[in-house]
Amino acid sequence: MKLDIRQFSSKDDGFRQDLDQLLSWESVSDANVQKSVENIVNRVRQEGDAALVELTNCFDRRSVQSAAELVIEADELAKAAERVDSTIVDALKQAAERVKSYHERQIQPSWQYEEDNGTVLGQQITPLDRVGVYVPGGKAAYPSSVLMNVMPAKVAGVGEIVMVVPTPDNVVNDIVLAAAHVAGVDRVITVGGAQAVAALAYGTETVPKVDKIVGPGNIYVATAKRMVFGACGIDMIAGPSEILVVSDGLSNPDWIAMDLFSQAEHDEDAQSILISTDADFIAKVKESMERQIEDMSRQEIIKTSLEGRGALIHVDSMEEAIEVANIVAAEHLELSIENPEEWVGKIRHAGAIFMGRYTPEALGDYCAGPNHVLPTSGTARFSSPLGVYDFQKRSSIIYCSHQGASELAKIASPLARGESLEAHAVSAEFRMIDNA
Ligand code: NAD
Repeated sequence: MKLDIRQFSSKDDGFRQDLDQLLSWESVSDANVQKSVENIVNRVRQEGDAALVELTNCFDRRSVQSAAELVIEADELAKAAERVDSTIVDALKQAAERVKSYHERQIQPSWQYEEDNGTVLGQQITPLDRVGVYVPGGKAAYPSSVLMNVMPAKVAGVGEIVMVVPTPDNVVNDIVLAAAHVAGVDRVITVGGAQAVAALAYGTETVPKVDKIVGPGNIYVATAKRMVFGACGIDMIAGPSEILVVSDGLSNPDWIAMDLFSQAEHDEDAQSILISTDADFIAKVKESMERQIEDMSRQEIIKTSLEGRGALIHVDSMEEAIEVANIVAAEHLELSIENPEEWVGKIRHAGAIFMGRYTPEALGDYCAGPNHVLPTSGTARFSSPLGVYDFQKRSSIIYCSHQGASELAKIASPLARGESLEAHAVSAEFRMIDNA
């Protein structure tokens, strides 16, 4: 099948403009989505369970009479796991263990230090009390997303984890529930979309209000998360998925073509880009894609994604390839090159870096260990993968000895008077040893 994928070279006039245009992302959100989500969020906030039931019946084509029917408790999750093929449950357990082991290394302890005068300063780390995990379920089921969102929360020590997942047409996905069981979710509520986000943010008679909502979702979910931020925390607003493969031309073209497909098959708006120093290799990858796409079950989605947002870019050198990779700041970056360890330190912006020819993104998506919830749309310039740190908060600790208070008051008092805040000044001065 012929694929009409954008191709350009760093030697082209206007290369930088072409690149900027490739990366620009016109929001898929529009005024209608905004208005509709606002209406849904307000209704759930004001009417609670009644609105949640009505909206769930409407958007997920269900016929639920009461909110109690939407809840699946932990013992039911265990029963769902028993209904799933044991090979899949074993794979879920192994993946969960690997994700846990990786995230345990992210734990940061509380710390403190003492000054000579006895004053102690520090930082106390506390896990969040209750978190809501959104697992998408409109068009496909994502058991791997259950593990990736829940395991870091468990490692962080979150008190209670409430998972929401839509069950369109009343079809419950047992593998998703088995993943929730394996990961240790406390309760699943079978609601989705903006109504699920609103219920978690504000609480209803049945859904407990949470401190933070994490997890990916479609445009209604993302818009609702942005809207409720402040009532609770959110992790990030994730956009369409992306992969950038950098190859030195010595990779197997079939492998690279499939790696590009693995992202393109997610959805029509996903972005797959290949950068190589070898023009002949780029031609071979293109030929391989045109051959292999014939056998792909999600052929139409892959084609639309590659032709709409994909690109094959020829550069002169590895230095140039790395420079372009840093501009793209991709969610997933594959370094399919001979000595990736020599170049990885030069990568400044990427959600996850997959090093070498035997490290496809797909392994990271399911089970390598690092999180698959990653910053998209160039936001890797300033944000990080979902991690234990997203489920913990920090409190500053200050303990002053009398001597320490006296010394600090001598600094604080003139500053407070400079700000005309007399009570601040006097409060500090009361603690001075001379005044004691
Ligand atoms: P979803 O659960 O995000 O959304 C389904 C819900 O959308 C429905 O329950 C309904 O309430 C709501 N909805 C649908 N149409 C609506 C309308 N017209 N008005 C109001 N609400 C409406 O499931 P999905 O739709 O399958 O989307 C999943 C998304 O999550 C995809 O974009 C996928 O790429 C993304 N995803 C990302 C990751 C990641 O880690 N970044 C992982 C998995 C999935």
